[in-house]
Amino acid sequence: MKLYWDMDGVINHFIKDGDYLREGYFYGLPVHEEIKKTIDIFNEEKVEQFILSKYPNKTAYFDKMKSIMELFPWFKRKNIILLPYEDDKTKYVGRIDKNDILIDDFTPNLVEWQEIGGTPIKCINKINNTTGRWKGDFIDVGTNPYDIVKKIVGIIERRL
Ligand SMILES: [Mg+2]
Repeated sequence: MKLYWDMDGVINHFIKDGDYLREGYFYGLPVHEEIKKTIDIFNEEKVEQFILSKYPNKTAYFDKMKSIMELFPWFKRKNIILLPYEDDKTKYVGRIDKNDILIDDFTPNLVEWQEIGGTPIKCINKINNTTGRWKGDFIDVGTNPYDIVKKIVGIIERRL
């Protein structure tokens, strides 16, 4: 099992109409503590994890990198995958299968992931999921981290 984590709206709060081109913007975003803790638990369990996140400009790239290295000092550099906004997340990972899980708040990313054979899990936060279009598996940022871990493991076990 490999976990690929999105940042905005998953690890970090997503702020509607945020000044996201400003230097320091992505470094200063508040963190969903439940998700941070979930990632730490999976790390203790030796699950391989990746960050898979897009950046709008060079400043954002460095802010995001700095933010991840501070939140998760144990993360290997090669497991932090940052890509330009216009690119497709599936182009930055090798061959993936149903044991590769993308946790993302943006449905088009999840649909692309499913199309190449991975397992998508939508992250529900306080501002997304307004249309209720996503019918697949989900986690909620407001949940106890141990319950999030249990839920993700359950989703994978169901697919094996
Ligand atoms: Mg996102």
